Amino acid sequence: MTAQIIDGKALADELRQSFKARVETLTAKGHKPGLVVILVGEDPASQVYVKNKVNGCLAIGMHSEKIVYDREVDQQVVLDKIAELNADPAIHGILVQLPLPKHFDEEKVLEAISVEKDVDGFHAENVGALSQGAPRFIPCTPYGVMKMFEKGNVDLTGKEAVVIGRSNIVGKPMAMLLINAGATVTVCHSKTKDLNFHTKRADIVVAAVGKPKFVKGDMIRLGAVVIDVGINRLPDGKLCGDVDYADCLEVAGQITPVPGGVGPMTITMLLANTIEAAERKAGIR
Ligand code: NDP
Repeated sequence: MTAQIIDGKALADELRQSFKARVETLTAKGHKPGLVVILVGEDPASQVYVKNKVNGCLAIGMHSEKIVYDREVDQQVVLDKIAELNADPAIHGILVQLPLPKHFDEEKVLEAISVEKDVDGFHAENVGALSQGAPRFIPCTPYGVMKMFEKGNVDLTGKEAVVIGRSNIVGKPMAMLLINAGATVTVCHSKTKDLNFHTKRADIVVAAVGKPKFVKGDMIRLGAVVIDVGINRLPDGKLCGDVDYADCLEVAGQITPVPGGVGPMTITMLLANTIEAAERKAGIR
């Protein structure tokens, strides 16, 4: 058996096409969706992500700009800029690219973003709304994964789902979304005693570990849905996921590739969140 591939790139392209009409409607009503991305420092991976986010917006007719600060910048300068953007009616989404340099209080910065413009969904109030099952903004990566389940016709109700990873940006919100969707969820992490015991009995495995090719074919059950959130750069420069794709391909029922899986969906859902924010502001949502 060879797994069916859930193509994130194709789904991302399809969704982005469908967003264009919504952006046009909003623009005609004087609410052109606008996203500002704040980057502190020169981390090469972050620079690529920020560029892709800004370009993703521009490609579908949205407004987007990046604001770049030197890594030594005082936190207050960034907080003042966020306050200014919170008050700017042309801006519907504000995103601070993580990680921030060590002298920053990440929580304080994220909490400074207006909950109405927190398109990453990392503000404590938005995290709370998600856990109550009434999200305002769903964090983009797990949101993208949920869309991929839809695309792959994966019925989550009553399924055993195992999420490997418990970060605030992927693992925890992923688990919350799966619970809300009716799955029975186990969250594994570095302190989990017998990871294979959990993954072997799962109908759905979501890998967000940050370790290349971590999930092997013998860790999953025949026919499982395997979602690979990982993005790892190998010494030869190639990208690879947290799942050993070749090894799992013959065991899984459905699988996502890297690249071309969850990655393109993350930015797509950022665009979706910003459009939703603009639609709320325009009173058409
Ligand atoms: P973090 O490093 O914040 O979290 C990794 C998680 O994996 C932690 O909870 C950690 O456990 C757990 N873990 C580490 N080692 C093991 C192990 N041996 N067994 C079980 N669990 C383990 O990473 P992120 O959540 O930020 O990202 C995860 C991956 O997803 C990365 O590859 C990242 O690049 C990628 N990513 C991809 C995105 C996309 O757009 N596709 C977006 C964001 C991230 P513990 O908590 O105990 O330390």
